[in-house]
Amino acid sequence: MDFNLSEEQIMIRDAARDFAQAELLPGVIERDEKQQFPAEQIKKMGELGFLGMMVDPKYGGSGLDTVSYVLAMEEISKIDASASVVMSVNNSLVCWGLEHYGTEEQKQKYLIPLAKGEIIGAFCLSEPEAGSDATSQKTTAIDKGDYYLLNGTKNWITNGNNASIYLVIAQTHPEKMHKGINALIVEKGMEGFVVGPKENKLGIRGSDTHSLMFTDVKVPKGNRIGDDGFGFKFAMKTLAGGRIGIASQALGIASGAYELALKYSKERKAFGKEISKHQAIAFKLADMALQIEAARHLCIKAAWEKDQKLNYDLSGAMAKLYAADMAMQVTIEAVQIHGGYGFVKEYHVERLMRDAKITQIYEGTSEIQKIVISRSILQD
Ligand SMILES: Cc1cc2nc3c(=O)[nH]c(=O)nc-3n(C[C@H](O)[C@H](O)[C@H](O)COP(=O)(O)OP(=O)(O)OC[C@H]3O[C@@H](n4cnc5c(N)ncnc54)[C@H](O)[C@@H]3O)c2cc1C
Repeated sequence: MDFNLSEEQIMIRDAARDFAQAELLPGVIERDEKQQFPAEQIKKMGELGFLGMMVDPKYGGSGLDTVSYVLAMEEISKIDASASVVMSVNNSLVCWGLEHYGTEEQKQKYLIPLAKGEIIGAFCLSEPEAGSDATSQKTTAIDKGDYYLLNGTKNWITNGNNASIYLVIAQTHPEKMHKGINALIVEKGMEGFVVGPKENKLGIRGSDTHSLMFTDVKVPKGNRIGDDGFGFKFAMKTLAGGRIGIASQALGIASGAYELALKYSKERKAFGKEISKHQAIAFKLADMALQIEAARHLCIKAAWEKDQKLNYDLSGAMAKLYAADMAMQVTIEAVQIHGGYGFVKEYHVERLMRDAKITQIYEGTSEIQKIVISRSILQD
């Protein structure tokens, strides 16, 4: 067993840290306030290889391991979780899904520009009446011979307006229930595809969340991912890896808030000494550091299992559940340590607290992670 990171992993982590400080920190408060998508910053992240980190270089990716991805996600999320969710969706869901289950033609056409960050993608599973219960898909993809006729609405889609490529989950054979579902690659601009208004959110406000409407959209048969009926399995497999990305996002949000709280506690004085010298504050910091370190180990363990081609369903769910709940607790404490200053925007921690909340909701709520974990530990 070796807990050391490789030189390459350290280099990636440091590059992500430097990028976040130089490019994401300026303007992060304003982007949050105005709900402004970090378009320029995302373009630069693409140029640096952060949007196709694990993709084989022959398909335009950086060819890195999942541990490096976790390290970079933590650093980006410390500063701007709205940018890191774009990174997570593009890497873990869209690129990974296409690389592992797409045809060579699909990889040439879609994966290469996505992995290079020339375009970004979206993953479209949730619907107005199908969130946690993703099997009850109402969007239909009717087989018309050469193409599927796509009809329905998707909700809460990250990168909803800024994406060029959408992986859309839809029901083809309702009588087969989840075994009748397909995953289709839909291009922006296909006739009948309309992007709905932007959601006005509590957190990750710089990210771009929209509903999508499909009315008689003709999707070529060649745009189906995998065999007929593979769509639900595709979604579940993809989300299992996505959880490692969101767990790392939660980890980064928490460690960003912790670093700010630690610094502030050494500067702010009350009753004649730095607040860090009051045991109540020092113990809060000790708890935060401990929880963050535990979450980091869970994230890296899940990433390592993925890199070793082991089953990471359980470790990914554990990492996401723990890191998300931890991020919520740690960011609340970071606001508390800042006192009144924590409640205003300039000090960043209130944003991190708002951003933390989503990690308990998307890519499987905390309750759903408990279902995944309990099923896994109870199976014979
Ligand atoms: C900002 C944002 C971005 C998102 N991005 C995307 C995206 O890019 N693509 C996408 O497809 N989706 C996306 N989502 C959707 C997200 O994944 C869903 O909101 C989430 O899965 C929960 O579904 P729901 O909102 O329908 O809640 P519901 O499923 O209705 O759940 C409501 C509550 O009931 C609980 N619950 C449900 N079932 C059970 C059960 N069996 N046992 C115990 N408790 C249960 C839930 O945990 C939750 O607390 C996004 C959501 C948001 C808010």
